[in-house]
Amino acid sequence: MKTKFFWLITVSIVVFLALSSIQGYLIYNTYTLKRNAFIDKTRDRILKIDYNQELDSIVDSWGEELKNQIADYKNHRINKKELLYRIKIKADTLNDQYYKVYKRELHSRKLGYELNYKKNIKSIVIFGKENDTIFPLKKDESFRLFGADFTNDKANSVSVSRTFSQFEYIDQTGNDIITQQYNLEVKAQDIMQIIDEKSIVFRQMAGLLIGSLIIFLAMVGLFYYSLKTLIKQKKINAIKTDFINNITHELKTPLATLGIATKGLKVKEIQDDPEAIKHSLTIIDRQNDRIQKLIDQVMSNSLNAENIPLQRTQVLARPYLEEVLEDFKMGLQHQNVLIKTDFFPKKVFLRLDKFYFTTALFNLLDNAVKYSEDPIEITIKTTVDRNQFTIAIQDHGMGISKTAQKNLFDKFYRVPQGDVYQQKGLGLGLYYTEQIVNAHEGEVSVDSEPGKGSTFLIKIPLYR
Ligand code: ADP
Repeated sequence: MKTKFFWLITVSIVVFLALSSIQGYLIYNTYTLKRNAFIDKTRDRILKIDYNQELDSIVDSWGEELKNQIADYKNHRINKKELLYRIKIKADTLNDQYYKVYKRELHSRKLGYELNYKKNIKSIVIFGKENDTIFPLKKDESFRLFGADFTNDKANSVSVSRTFSQFEYIDQTGNDIITQQYNLEVKAQDIMQIIDEKSIVFRQMAGLLIGSLIIFLAMVGLFYYSLKTLIKQKKINAIKTDFINNITHELKTPLATLGIATKGLKVKEIQDDPEAIKHSLTIIDRQNDRIQKLIDQVMSNSLNAENIPLQRTQVLARPYLEEVLEDFKMGLQHQNVLIKTDFFPKKVFLRLDKFYFTTALFNLLDNAVKYSEDPIEITIKTTVDRNQFTIAIQDHGMGISKTAQKNLFDKFYRVPQGDVYQQKGLGLGLYYTEQIVNAHEGEVSVDSEPGKGSTFLIKIPLYR
């Protein structure tokens, strides 16, 4: 049963985790799809943004500079590095103008969000008998020609363009001045970086995320509720079994004694002996009382603080408690129990239903005896603190662990002592005691340490 329960919980947790991971995976996939769609849409909207005369002429004037610098390069007046430096300087001087126009164009497209843009140069190659790569000098190098300054990570490519054109330059390197031709290939890439891209995509997914969150929370809630109910059900089952075992056990002894006593009454010798009849009848009477007490206990467990029909009267605390202890001692029969008292010296009035309150005190006193070993010593101490009267019942018995203390006042709860209960009981005494004390607007608590003993405290309001 235990392993079945363990597997049920384990499988439920695994299923729950699997479902959560699938949900997480689906959300992630949706995010990727949405993000790609969003980037594609943005790309489409800004793709032809530089099909613009003003921008064309700016790019052309940079192209003109490139051409001039290549002529110098071809005539060995400058090297590649210088060439690059010069065309970059030219680009920088044109950039403000380019960016202004670009921004204006971007604005007119009313995207509804911000983005950064740049045009990068990926390569510049002079084609001839031997190709001459002006740029890049290192692999994967690129430089910003126009636009904003930002790194390429978290950025997206808008388009890649290649221009291939034929140019001429005047070669002055030999004795003759001749016009030479060359082919130039320039590769550029337009790159954009959408500001707050993640949050925009997440905002677009808000409905899905909220829906998923609600479903997830509902799943957690249902899972938690099911497990709680299952555990509770299991506890109730165990309590039920315990209770049936206990009550059977409790009823067996008096019934067996009753059986022996009544059988005895049928025996001729006993019938002839009035003393023996009296003895048997006392036994029958006592066992009858015991069974009645058990039935009362079971019946009373259906009562709780709200429906205990109290009939309260004004009671003087000390004489009342002395009377209760007197009765209790009478019922102890042969047991050797020392009861010490330490009563609050002044007159204190309480408002009690004597019948019920005595039952509550008897329960605690019974337990103090039941869960102690000889020599048994119980101390009853009363104190007054402002408006509150406290009755402390202290024993030096087996004590109660901190974990058991948490459930001590629950219906049917008994502290498990291995598999066997050394003392008989139904686990109803403390539950009923608490209900009675609560009905008196009071509270009951316990302070205990295993092996050292327990002190049960009843606190009720004073009557003034
Ligand atoms: P019962 O005595 O019929 O089992 P109770 O409700 O009176 O039921 O007590 C519940 C449990 O609390 C007991 O089974 C016992 O284990 C523990 N208990 C109660 N009083 C004491 C005590 N004075 N010392 C140690 N254990 C106690």
